[in-house]
Amino acid sequence: MKVPFVDLITQYENSKNQILPALEHIMENAQFILGDDVLQFEKEFAAFCHTRYAIGVDSGTSALELILRALGIGSGAEVITAANTFIATTLAISITGAKPALVDIHPETYTIDVNKIEAAITERTKAILPVHLYGQPADMDPILDIARLHNLAVVEDACQAHGATYKGKIAGSFGDAAAFSFYPSKNLGAYGDGGAVVTNREEITKNIEILRDYGQSKKNHHNVLGFNRRLDTLQAAVLRVKLGHLEDWNQARRRHAQQYTALLKQAGISLPHEADYAESVYHLFVIRTKNRDALIDFLKSKDISAGIHYPTPIHLQPAYDNLKYGLGDFPITEQYAKEIISLPMYPELSSEQLIHVCNSISEFVGS
Ligand SMILES: *Cc1c(COP(=O)(O)O)cnc(C)c1O
Repeated sequence: MKVPFVDLITQYENSKNQILPALEHIMENAQFILGDDVLQFEKEFAAFCHTRYAIGVDSGTSALELILRALGIGSGAEVITAANTFIATTLAISITGAKPALVDIHPETYTIDVNKIEAAITERTKAILPVHLYGQPADMDPILDIARLHNLAVVEDACQAHGATYKGKIAGSFGDAAAFSFYPSKNLGAYGDGGAVVTNREEITKNIEILRDYGQSKKNHHNVLGFNRRLDTLQAAVLRVKLGHLEDWNQARRRHAQQYTALLKQAGISLPHEADYAESVYHLFVIRTKNRDALIDFLKSKDISAGIHYPTPIHLQPAYDNLKYGLGDFPITEQYAKEIISLPMYPELSSEQLIHVCNSISEFVGS
């Protein structure tokens, strides 16, 4: 039985009778830039996130970068974030001219260790950027307390956490602003690149609307050097259809997580830990084992695709030699990078597929 890592083909088959007419409508009216679908999607996504505003942009990386720029963060500033994250988090910081200041992760939740944040604060620190990794929100209350105490902005990287909650409140609604990615395999994915900023702050919204659209506050009126970072109208139309399914899809992911947990309890591997404060949307289901590479090969021999998120920590990437971090600086992140495996996780995953994955892991462990 074949088990892909994600299955966007089945998802398209299940929703194409809604998606194709939405795309056709745009092409028949030839309105490809901003327009009604982007506006409506922004309204609907802000409502979903319980924020006052959403601004559609061309990727999650852009969303993070434009938030930082709108906050006036750039050269000379430092932004604190987790050592274990996708490199786009720190690229967005670096592209503004600011410096990422990394903090190790908590061994149970894999998100930023809130007890290690204050040691990373300097007089240059301007913001804390927690990442809601694998679909589980970071521990936001202590982060907000530290930020208040030190007068720092809070920017949430919610690119893996559409619909996750922290103490019952939705991810993305905590900080000054939050970034979402609609990369195709994210919990809410477009048919190409896309992203959004959500915020309750009007001046951040205005700034980003200008920055994403050539720096114009109205047509041909350019106050600042802006960019071309708009969300495509066609992608907005896809996202509007898919947003209507997101809660069901997230529930399906949570059911799969429960089933994985029940079936793998005795397998002697480390399973994801959902913190008391969190309801994860399981963008990824990440386990840990000492025999990681052999297990991935074994699963491959059973037609199962697994992934690693992420095999080389950011501070050990050649691109970040200039940060002057070294081996041993973030021990949990470094250890986990050698042990983690992301199992197949998507709403359309069938029970039979999931059982095949678990039986294969048990077979490997018992052999
Ligand atoms: C996907 C992702 C991003 C970047 O989003 P893109 O849309 O690919 O630019 C940033 N941070 C995290 C944690 C992500 O998973």
